[in-house]
Amino acid sequence: MGSPIRSNLQSGARLDLSGYIKGIEASDRIVLSRAITLIESKLESDQLLSDQLLQKLLPKTGKSIRIGITGIPGVGKSTFIEALGSYLTTLSKKVAVLAIDPSSGYSKGSILGDKTRMDNLSKNENAFIRPTSTGGTLGGVADKTREAILLCEAAGYEIIIIETVGVGQSETVVRDMVDFFLLLLIGGAGDELQGIKKGIMEMADGVVITKADGENLKSATQAQSDYHHALHLFASPASGWKPKVLISSALEQTGIKETWEMIEGFHAFTTRNGHFEKQRSQQNKSWFHTAIEGYLKYQLLQDPTLKNKLEKAELQVIDGTLSPGVASRQVVKEFMASISKT
Ligand code: GDP
Repeated sequence: MGSPIRSNLQSGARLDLSGYIKGIEASDRIVLSRAITLIESKLESDQLLSDQLLQKLLPKTGKSIRIGITGIPGVGKSTFIEALGSYLTTLSKKVAVLAIDPSSGYSKGSILGDKTRMDNLSKNENAFIRPTSTGGTLGGVADKTREAILLCEAAGYEIIIIETVGVGQSETVVRDMVDFFLLLLIGGAGDELQGIKKGIMEMADGVVITKADGENLKSATQAQSDYHHALHLFASPASGWKPKVLISSALEQTGIKETWEMIEGFHAFTTRNGHFEKQRSQQNKSWFHTAIEGYLKYQLLQDPTLKNKLEKAELQVIDGTLSPGVASRQVVKEFMASISKT
């Protein structure tokens, strides 16, 4: 507790680049948390510092298994993640849990910030739990979650769990930043009720039917068999991996070890056939392109006149008097003209 980094942090002072690097390399959770706040900051000076930090730490990143976990609210995500995370720490693994919800900001108190969620795991010294980002930051929320993953990896976290707490587009966003995508479902509830679109099933590398205990056990086992058959109707995924369907009770701690064995099996299989590295490279490539789009738009919005024009054009697009394509070209051309003037 007597380290200079810590006393700086406690006094609320900002760290310099080497302070962040030393803290992260020492796997200091307070410094890691502050570093994530830094990358989320909208201040230009913070952005410069966080770019330097990320670039410096890059050689130490990439060595984790990144797992995305999704399912409707109430399916048991946080209870399951707490059970899985705690199990992984008993295997001496360091586990980080990040949450993403691109559809809404986190500023009004996050779901993970709620103390009742993952209470035990958050007390575990080998675990790090944190919601990521607020909406509207430079490059968007997904960009910040990706950077948070890199920071956690540099801090020595071997398993990174990304929990989606939004519905709809968040699944695709998370699928694009993880190695293994896990879908949680409840037995006995219809597909529609669970918001399960065929596309989401197709993205899954594994399915876990939750709350398989007590009187739910029978319907969970039935659902396991149904989803097993349903998954095999889909075309084989690019990984060559055949998605599995398991049942689990986070309350009774069943199916947790099996879930981890499934993920390890996937990791070994896709490392052997080259898919693991290939998927990571493709994800980096698409991250790069999405980040360029996001940054250009961010820069455009910094100009109040252009922002105003964009908002006016948006209204015309919404009421159908202006085509989205034409509108976007108009705005971008004005942006380019404004740059050439400066
Ligand atoms: P989330 O919204 O998807 O994160 O779901 P929660 O983890 O908050 O769980 C929703 C509810 O389901 C809570 O009341 C939990 O106690 C309950 N629940 C979670 N896991 C299990 C389980 O394995 N068995 C049973 N019976 N209930 C569970």
